[in-house]
Amino acid sequence: MGTHAELVIRLREFAAARNWDQFHSPKNLTMALAGEVGELVAELQWLSDSEIEAGLQTESPLRDAVENEMADVLIYLARLADIAGVDLYRAAEAKVERNERRYPVAQSYGSAVKYTRLPANGNP
Ligand SMILES: [Mg+2]
Repeated sequence: MGTHAELVIRLREFAAARNWDQFHSPKNLTMALAGEVGELVAELQWLSDSEIEAGLQTESPLRDAVENEMADVLIYLARLADIAGVDLYRAAEAKVERNERRYPVAQSYGSAVKYTRLPANGNP
């Protein structure tokens, strides 16, 4: 299993070897990403939670399909971040820190209430 940096380099090489950089604009990559998220959604739609849970636990056509679409999502997200100059992990860490402030454990434990509806929340 490689690192994220190795994946980014491999995607750069993949695109450069095919002269595809010209197609990898932020807009195009965002649309491709949305398309792949849609493909992931399509694999799960109409299935019950228990059917999904069973399908993901073992080697199965569902697991293969979900894995493939998750890989597509990651690939386009990684490529978009690279083209846009975004450090995905720094951005994600900042977001998690923000969410930790938005959702204090004492107010959010076991609750799915959005932070804007929590009492006495500063909404950072
Ligand atoms: Mg796909």
